Amino acid sequence: MTDRTPDPDCLFCRIVAGEIPSEQVHADDLVVAIRDIQPKAPTHVLFVSREHIASAAELSDADGPLLGRLYAAAADFARAAGIAENGYRLVTNIGTWGGQTVPHLHIHLLGGRAMTWPPG
Ligand code: 5GP
Ligand code: ZN
Repeated sequence: MTDRTPDPDCLFCRIVAGEIPSEQVHADDLVVAIRDIQPKAPTHVLFVSREHIASAAELSDADGPLLGRLYAAAADFARAAGIAENGYRLVTNIGTWGGQTVPHLHIHLLGGRAMTWPPG
């Protein structure tokens, strides 16, 4: 397992630590959720692990509780935001070709409009 201590050069580590301001919509012992600064849908929230994990490619069986929490927090948020009935998208980008720009694990919640498939 790679080192998961906070990385002072990591944007999301700094947001989780409160060093960089964000619009936080959820926080618990494992996950912090913030509104995306450049929303790609009417609702665009990032569910971020508190631990510095480079991407979902770094996860193992031991991360089951974290993964469950990430998805449950997103589903709870979608219900509370009133976008769950129509459906929404949860996605995590991995690496350059996956479109990942911040190398710290996060799941995008995109909702409030119909999504297209496949993504670009
Ligand atoms: P990725 O490209 O890694 O899948 O997702 C990173 C996301 O973080 C992008 O959607 C981008 O708009 C968002 N983002 C980048 N910088 C900031 C920031 O400083 N604050 C917030 N709230 N979101 C950010
Ligand atoms: Zn980080």
